[in-house]
Amino acid sequence: MSEAEFLFSLGPRPSVPIEGQSRRFPVRRIYCVGLNYAAHAREMGKDPTKERPFFFSKPADAVVESGATIPYASMTHNLHYEIELVAALHSGGADISRDRALEHVFGYAAGIDLTRRDLQKAARDEGKPWDLAKGFDQSAPLGAIRPAAEIGHPRAGRIALSVNGAIRQNGDLSDMILDTAGIIAELSRYVRLAAGDLIFTGTPEGVGPLKPGDVADAEIEGVGAVRVAMAA
Ligand code: MN
Repeated sequence: MSEAEFLFSLGPRPSVPIEGQSRRFPVRRIYCVGLNYAAHAREMGKDPTKERPFFFSKPADAVVESGATIPYASMTHNLHYEIELVAALHSGGADISRDRALEHVFGYAAGIDLTRRDLQKAARDEGKPWDLAKGFDQSAPLGAIRPAAEIGHPRAGRIALSVNGAIRQNGDLSDMILDTAGIIAELSRYVRLAAGDLIFTGTPEGVGPLKPGDVADAEIEGVGAVRVAMAA
């Protein structure tokens, strides 16, 4: 089969570095879990006993390498940080069983789910989709991926974020409502997962705003770190 010819080039495929390797992890899709920590669900005005975690997505080219300085996002006055454990898949499928789910995880990274909170709340109140509150340019800063073959599958450990050195989020992975295996099993009933997919697994309580000039530093015990700076 000959290679297709295109009208123009779309440029390089989005990718993320892998700790200790020269090869990079190519990104196919980015999925995210909403309201996966009870305390964060409550701070968002939701009742975690009544509302289950749910899924949304970001474009693959929203990834930003750790250490970058990015412009404050357009069309918002309330850009929020959300530190999250991110699972990176090297295989996939549909209707994956919980028992086999972790076989599909290549590794893990620390990521920040940047959110236009004002647009999200307005969309929610008006019953409109909130795609553009979550999926926008440079909305997914991400640290290097650490292979599960080296670090295992983290189920517990501190997940924390600071802004300009002051701690803002300080949770534990063990407080996730759906764990990584549960997320993969449930998400794969809606979509066929595949190699190159990233899954942001939700954020603990303490989300808040960033201002121009702020630096957010986040770390997940046993996984890694991510840093992003807002241009002044
Ligand atoms: Mn999130």
